[in-house]
Amino acid sequence: MSKADRLREIMDEEGDAVHANTQSFNRGRYDSVADLEDYEALKEEARTIKEDAIERLPELIDRLEETVEGNGGTLYLADDVADANRYIREVVGEESAKTVVKSKSMTSEELDVNDALATDGHEVVETDLGEWVLQVADEAPSHIVAPAIHKSREAIAELLNEHFDSDEPLETAEELTTFARETLGERISEADVGMTGANFIAADTGTMALVTSEGNARKSIAATDTHVAIAGVEKVIPSIEDLQPFVELIGRSGTGQDITSYISLLTPPVKTPTINFNDDETPLSALDDDDREFHLVLIDNGRMAMRNDDDLRETLYCIRCSACSNVCANFQQVGGHAFGGETYSGGIATGWEAGVEGTDVAGEFNDLCTGCSRCVDACPVKIDIPWINTVVRDRVNRGKAGKIDFLVDGLTPDDEAGNPPLQKRLFGNFETVAKLGSALAPLSNWLADTTVSKRMMDRFLGIDARRDLPEFKRETLTEWCTDRDSTIQNPRRQAVLYPDLYTNHVQIERGKAAIRVLETLGVDVVVPTAPSSGRAPLSQGMVETARDHAERVADSLDPFIEEGRDIVVIEPSDLAMFEREYEQLLDLATQERLADESYEIMEYVFGLLENGADAAALCEGAGEHVAYHSHCQQRTLGLEGHTVAVLEHCGFDVWTSDVECCGMAGSFGYKSDYYDVSMAAGDELRRQFHEKDTQNRTVVASGTSCLEQLDSLLERHPTHPIELLVD
Ligand code: SF4
Repeated sequence: MSKADRLREIMDEEGDAVHANTQSFNRGRYDSVADLEDYEALKEEARTIKEDAIERLPELIDRLEETVEGNGGTLYLADDVADANRYIREVVGEESAKTVVKSKSMTSEELDVNDALATDGHEVVETDLGEWVLQVADEAPSHIVAPAIHKSREAIAELLNEHFDSDEPLETAEELTTFARETLGERISEADVGMTGANFIAADTGTMALVTSEGNARKSIAATDTHVAIAGVEKVIPSIEDLQPFVELIGRSGTGQDITSYISLLTPPVKTPTINFNDDETPLSALDDDDREFHLVLIDNGRMAMRNDDDLRETLYCIRCSACSNVCANFQQVGGHAFGGETYSGGIATGWEAGVEGTDVAGEFNDLCTGCSRCVDACPVKIDIPWINTVVRDRVNRGKAGKIDFLVDGLTPDDEAGNPPLQKRLFGNFETVAKLGSALAPLSNWLADTTVSKRMMDRFLGIDARRDLPEFKRETLTEWCTDRDSTIQNPRRQAVLYPDLYTNHVQIERGKAAIRVLETLGVDVVVPTAPSSGRAPLSQGMVETARDHAERVADSLDPFIEEGRDIVVIEPSDLAMFEREYEQLLDLATQERLADESYEIMEYVFGLLENGADAAALCEGAGEHVAYHSHCQQRTLGLEGHTVAVLEHCGFDVWTSDVECCGMAGSFGYKSDYYDVSMAAGDELRRQFHEKDTQNRTVVASGTSCLEQLDSLLERHPTHPIELLVD
């Protein structure tokens, strides 16, 4: 089955449930974090604790070992999956346990511990509702927090009715949960060993925080006299006091709850008597410290190597809240069965799978991350998830060789030491394609649009024939500007309009509009020849090529900064390169200088108007109704509001979509493998732009990809907002 077919099949079967549930979690997150007094400060605090904890990890593990043993338990540090399972099998075997009850733990999924124990004849019963449903269905989790998110209530009812052959068919949510509660309650009461994960473990006290929706972890521990906790080494934090920001953030970030239903803080072995569920008279045993046995199994399994890997290290800060999955436009369509590896799913899964399973496993789904960066804002520990995906993509490229790649080896204009597949090389070298496209226009456009060409590109390059390709303009923006003298006397400001690839070769009207608006507001504008930002190669995981672009862009713009000019950028994804990704590609001083002097075009216009420029000189909106979609990376940079403010200032009536990402995302929507995912992600945008209040509005969008996607989704032709301001 092709990748496109597999994705289509998953979307058909699971897409609706995944979409509805992740969107609901995501909306809940926005509402919940809005109530926090200082969300950003809380995130910063959480990040600082994790940075410190990972830095001091070996020392904290030693401290925790002393603490756990002082408390009467045992800590076992397992090198890998086999080592962990061997130890757990020994413990459970010594207890002669028939039944092990287990609460939800992704680390235990990493170990496949259920299968390991089953080989010795132990029955492991999942006690988390979602995990239990999946155990009955014999399926893998599709989400790191809500494992059965892909299943509707109807599907769960059908499954349980069939499996348990109930007299009265279960139907409502209440009937289903009551049945699960009774069934699982019985299984917990007869169990010998309780197995849990651990969300956080404080080294100073040995206290574990367990975050659950159903209280099943606490019950499984209380009801059994042997407790085995399984956790990755990264779960250790220095002190019990460090728990506070995580407790505030984890539920809000994941499921949008101000606080998760159950947050159990336990310092095992717990000092409570065990419960005999069959003894109504004296259900609690006499309190005896020896009643309780506790084993903490800390797993390395690649994590210590991740700690020493500058690019993967951040993954270890992850608190597995799932915000990055819920906010992700592609995850919302396909869920974790497609956007995930052996154990972990969503954007951060690339880091986890690369670290614990290897690059090849991560490479299977890594391309579903488009680098839109919406997860960066959502992550409570501020992990640069897109960068991790980019680095892993680069590593995957280095290990790959396509069938006909030898034909282009050494002939491509990139700096890649590795061997990216032909399709990635083509998209990564889009600057060269655009230069050729403009030089040969209109022939190049005609040729690319023929049925034969489209079929060939689909077959050999994986470019979906249903997409319209960009139409290159013969005269580029920089050429148009060559013979043009600035008309501004006594300029208010001096600026450089950065000729991004699309504005220069394809959408030059928005470039001309930008120049006219800036000049109308008294700005002296120059448009130099400058290299493309490197966004195209970076999106394909061609990091060295992107670095070369970044260095050349910095060199070419630096003299203008030196003479006091502001850098104005139309394409938000290029501004995001300057502000975010160049941090990884340039020395800090160079990056900061460029980022500090750069502005998104509407942000710049906003600044001019705020500082006295005359809005009356611009086009009068006269109440024209506008529907606006801001670019994902523009939103991550916090620049969406400027466009709305400027348009409203000029008299437009603006409605704004709340879609996280249009689904096009540069080359992603062009690829045959992902065309359907891209269109499905765009569907929400289509729906929003067809509402009663939006269907007749003028459509504007800031990003090239958004404009292309909206053009394919709507009958109305979208434009960049700057074009509305030209009188
Ligand atoms: S990467 Fe961040 S947002 Fe994603 S699961 Fe981890 S902590 Fe949550």
